[in-house]
Amino acid sequence: VIRVDSVQLREIRLPLKEALVSAAAAVADRRIILVELRTTEGESAWGECVALEAPTYTSETVDTAWMVLRRWLVPALLGASWEKPEEVASLLEGTLRGHPMARAALEMPCWQLAAGSQGLSLVERLGGTRKTVETGIALGFSEDQQAQAQKARKAAQEGYRRIRLKIAPGRDEEPVRTVLNALGGLTHPLEIPLAVDANGSYRLEDLPLLKRLDGAGLQLIEQPLSPKDFLGHRALQEELITPVCLDESIHHPEDVRLMLELGAARAMNLKPGRVGGLTASLKIHDLCQEAGVPIFVGGMLETGIGRAYNVALASLPGCTLPGDLSPSAHYWRRDLVEPEWTMEDGLVTVPWGRPGLGVEVDVQRIETLTVRRETMSL
Ligand code: MG
Repeated sequence: VIRVDSVQLREIRLPLKEALVSAAAAVADRRIILVELRTTEGESAWGECVALEAPTYTSETVDTAWMVLRRWLVPALLGASWEKPEEVASLLEGTLRGHPMARAALEMPCWQLAAGSQGLSLVERLGGTRKTVETGIALGFSEDQQAQAQKARKAAQEGYRRIRLKIAPGRDEEPVRTVLNALGGLTHPLEIPLAVDANGSYRLEDLPLLKRLDGAGLQLIEQPLSPKDFLGHRALQEELITPVCLDESIHHPEDVRLMLELGAARAMNLKPGRVGGLTASLKIHDLCQEAGVPIFVGGMLETGIGRAYNVALASLPGCTLPGDLSPSAHYWRRDLVEPEWTMEDGLVTVPWGRPGLGVEVDVQRIETLTVRRETMSL
């Protein structure tokens, strides 16, 4: 039986090496909530909340998550006795409606505690099967098409297994052509797959344009329409050969059931933070695997702590598409974990056999970055 008797919330600020600009947001200086759990046995586990500063990706923000954590979620977890992290997921989901990113920040480190109590690594506890996971890269909007072409070529040379380009109305055909050209795809088959992510910025009336993109041999078109428009996505998927992939539409395994039932998409961007944690992620994994829908693990500009959970999840058998698992050095001058996450030939090594997250959290470094904290205990 595990009991968490103390939770420390911290907010840190970590400047990105380069801002990521999409139809959802422009993020340069990342405000991040970190969570440290301590058990009555003296074990500790770190979690990370993926909410952004503004409610532009989903409705949650750093400040709503902080409030919901301190007022409702942490008090619900403190002193509760549980054996399996699935029980924590139910407890938190039963505490309030919505707020999956806040819930995930508490639920994910419970998986680490559960793994540790059985002497397992997080990867083993989750049921991972891969020794390495394939990594893709996301390219944001750029005013400079030459620079964009340069970045695409560099990513291909660095071994990335996929490029995912952010698009929006008016910033679609030309950037796609630029990147395809840079990768040789206009004259030869693509060396690496190209996907696009619209962050819900199109409407069904944009079908003619989306049909033109459909002819470009893209790996997938991610979240073309607004998050609640499941029927629109179904209508679109019926018209397109390219698989539609959902991201912002999916907050719960029930959303995936709806997506599959309707045939609204043929690929899944799975972000554990967006769906309330790893318990829900495993359910979604199983639903998609059963339906033959490939998954990739999406990124939310996490530090190396959040990355550890994402790498473990990406090692599951249904996660067959390259994830947003770029190495630490792609995002940060210095990460919060030791060793930092690295990539070789587009592959990240899954930390099998290493306890817990598989990386050490650099508490000293976190201390220097902390701008607010609150400790809650029994
Ligand atoms: Mg997306």
